[in-house]
Amino acid sequence: MSDAALLALFCGVLGAIIGSFLNVCISRLPMDESIWLPRSHCPRCGAWIAAYDNIPILSYLLLGGRCRVCRLPISWRYPAVEALTAGLFWAGAARWGASWQTAKWCLLAAVMIELIFSDIETRILPDEFTLWGAAAGIMLAPLAALPPGLITLLVGGPSETPLGSTLNAVISAILLSGGFWLVGAFYAKLRGREGLGFGDVKMVAAMGAFLGLEMAMTAILGASIAGGVLGGLWIFMKGRKASEEELPFGSFLGVAALLAAWFS
Ligand SMILES: [Zn+2]
Repeated sequence: MSDAALLALFCGVLGAIIGSFLNVCISRLPMDESIWLPRSHCPRCGAWIAAYDNIPILSYLLLGGRCRVCRLPISWRYPAVEALTAGLFWAGAARWGASWQTAKWCLLAAVMIELIFSDIETRILPDEFTLWGAAAGIMLAPLAALPPGLITLLVGGPSETPLGSTLNAVISAILLSGGFWLVGAFYAKLRGREGLGFGDVKMVAAMGAFLGLEMAMTAILGASIAGGVLGGLWIFMKGRKASEEELPFGSFLGVAALLAAWFS
């Protein structure tokens, strides 16, 4: 096996393990439970899950998607998150090789997958992933350069230097979250109800820090269009009552951020 294939395989396995950890975060962070203790247990019968039943993806398949003790079904979300994280880590390593760009892609994938599923299930975007995601994006900016854009042009100097890239990440995060907050406040005043949660405001800061202004704005625009179209279809199919349901907009943002990063 070549070095490149070996690295991709290693990252894929690492992704499956990280995905398993993301599952714990998705289940526990919205309830303000500790992600470290107690160790994994079946959400239905409470039985502890033995280490050999806690192997990412494989255990789900071997157990036929059921708890060993109570035989009730385990959510498909567990193997889906593990397989998705493994796949994106593998693909990133196969594309960018042993580089900071791969590390950045993997971190972005982990952050966005947690937020996508957290928002679908609970409509909560945990600070541990939005705010710390923004901090991680800024810390990686000098190591894996953001694409040059308007901000690098305005701050001057060669665009892909560590300093230019870091400034791009910081300013993008501030501008986008500030803009989002303003739009949300304006909408709330106009409609008399909240349209954008504060979680979304913090999430776009992470997107700006990882992607830079232009790419993050493209992703936000794509997510808004997809959210508008699919939300409209949902209301059309389910009737007017559905318009009172809250759309998991963070999930749309997460998918759009991954697509924008991958296709840039
Ligand atoms: Zn059980």
